[in-house]
Amino acid sequence: MRKKLILSLCMIVMASVALVGCKGEKGDKGDSGAQGIQGVQGVPGTPGEDGVTPTLEISNDGYWVINGTKTDCKAIGQDGEDGKNGANGTNGANGVNGKDGRGIRSVEYDGMGNLKIVYTDNTEQTVPLPDKEEHVHTYGDWTLYNIGADVSCTEKIYYSVCSQCNEMKWKKGAESHVWSATYTYDEYAHWYVCETCGGKTAREDHTLNDDKDCTVCQQHIGGVQYELSEDKTYAKVVGYDGLAWKATIEREYQGVPVTHVGEGAFMGNYTVSRVEFPDTITTIEDFAFFDSGLAYDPELPSSLTTIGEYAFAYCDGLGLNTSVKIPAAVTSIGVGAFDHCLHIELSIDENNRTYTTQNDGNILFSKDMTTLYWYNQELNIQEYAVPETVTKIASYAFAGNIYLHKVIIPASVTYIGANSFEGCKNLKSAVFGEVEGWRDSRKKDGAGSAIDPIIVSNVESAATLLRYSTYLKRTENEA
Ligand SMILES: [Zn+2]
Ligand SMILES: [Zn+2]
Ligand SMILES: [Zn+2]
Repeated sequence: MRKKLILSLCMIVMASVALVGCKGEKGDKGDSGAQGIQGVQGVPGTPGEDGVTPTLEISNDGYWVINGTKTDCKAIGQDGEDGKNGANGTNGANGVNGKDGRGIRSVEYDGMGNLKIVYTDNTEQTVPLPDKEEHVHTYGDWTLYNIGADVSCTEKIYYSVCSQCNEMKWKKGAESHVWSATYTYDEYAHWYVCETCGGKTAREDHTLNDDKDCTVCQQHIGGVQYELSEDKTYAKVVGYDGLAWKATIEREYQGVPVTHVGEGAFMGNYTVSRVEFPDTITTIEDFAFFDSGLAYDPELPSSLTTIGEYAFAYCDGLGLNTSVKIPAAVTSIGVGAFDHCLHIELSIDENNRTYTTQNDGNILFSKDMTTLYWYNQELNIQEYAVPETVTKIASYAFAGNIYLHKVIIPASVTYIGANSFEGCKNLKSAVFGEVEGWRDSRKKDGAGSAIDPIIVSNVESAATLLRYSTYLKRTENEA
């Protein structure tokens, strides 16, 4: 509207300019109206208004008066024509119609996380499904995945499942073990155990005080027990309260050498199966290892001189692998030292000047073969002839052998020790090389009563005599 007014004013101005010539010329044509701007939304254009006609007057003294303003131009000649009305503005163009909306024809899942959408206009679109993370998972408790007693804390794997989408999440186990408050220990070392997985810290050797208590783990570890001799010049093993299967005897105790394994020190002990002796040991006293679990053949030290009575008796494991070596220095092996050792075989050091053996170490003699000390209970032969060098059969020498049926006692034998054939229940015959001059110590008449040679000459009664006599002695030239 405003523009049209302006246009109208323009025409007035044009008309005015044309009038400047003051020649009374014909008025110019009015210009056509400018085209209307295209309507944004297709609103019809409004009809343009009529152009405004300027007021032209002639003053009394003959000058043009335009719209009430007197000009310098004299109104001479004829009046010009009025300007034409401006053209109407053009209507705006119609708005474009909106497109039809699209429908969805089909939706398919491609199995790879995408939806394929086909629209009603046959266009297609592939849409990835929304990420599962878009909801807040509601995970349940952690559950151990790799169940097993030996799974270390650091190797444990746990999972938890979202109750909405079954999504699983995983984690490794605790970063660190949960160590027990107190030590676990054995005879040598202590360590901590993880309460969660049973894992262990590195083993640390015990730090033992004089009482064999560990100052770190506070446990009584025990071990070989010693005592000083009365004169404090040597020490003696008196016991063992350790846990280890192997006992090591120390060379020294409180500054003096350990020289004795005391009487019964390991008697009845089945914890220890191996003992290591230092080369300070000279004496293994009576019953030192009686009825014990000693199994590995002991390496008896070269310093050893004396093996007490029954020192190793009833050690069933002894001699299982090899023979028991009797060192060179041994000068005394007590009665029954190796009795009832199922597998024992003795091996005498070749430099030993006191002992020797026969029958693969199953019969022990003095080096000169004059004394028969020991005949293995386990020696399985039915008939045995005592060597003709032998003059003396030691007490209990054959005791307990149940295999022997017949024994031959040569004429060289003059002494048969107490209970030499005790318990030889299958000994049914004995052949004496000399039947005269035997006396039986059971007879309480001082030197013993003479035995009737008729008894001795009969193999059956002679066998009975051997089995039940205390000791027998033969004195020549003594009727
Ligand atoms: Zn979820
Ligand atoms: Zn652990
Ligand atoms: Zn300890």
